[in-house]
Amino acid sequence: MTDCVFCKIIAGQIPSKKVYEDEDTFAFYDIRPHMKVHFMIIPKKHISSLMDCQSEDQQLLGKMMLMTSKLAKQEGLPDGYKTLVNTGLAGGQEVFHLHVHVMGGGSL
Ligand code: AMP
Repeated sequence: MTDCVFCKIIAGQIPSKKVYEDEDTFAFYDIRPHMKVHFMIIPKKHISSLMDCQSEDQQLLGKMMLMTSKLAKQEGLPDGYKTLVNTGLAGGQEVFHLHVHVMGGGSL
């Protein structure tokens, strides 16, 4: 999607502090962190929000959830972390490209 900031990050058109990338996911640090460690996991496929996911996205969603612990450990959170998926305007979502926030390490 041409006007999506996260699609531009995936494409390398906007710089990011990358955590991980594979054929269908991308992870990078949040520019306005809420905790000492705060990154997001996103699908490369443009899906606007959790509300827009279809049954065909089940495997991708499961993969993103399983990635949280692997990447949290990699980024220095071996003992636990918070996850957050803001969904829709009423859910506080600001960027309409599905993302899972992964946060921990104490407040700033
Ligand atoms: P949400 O409210 O769940 O939609 O959160 C979107 C998040 O994206 C916010 O925490 C923003 O700080 C973050 N964000 C927006 N633009 C960028 C960017 N260019 N690089 C990294 N994080 C971003």
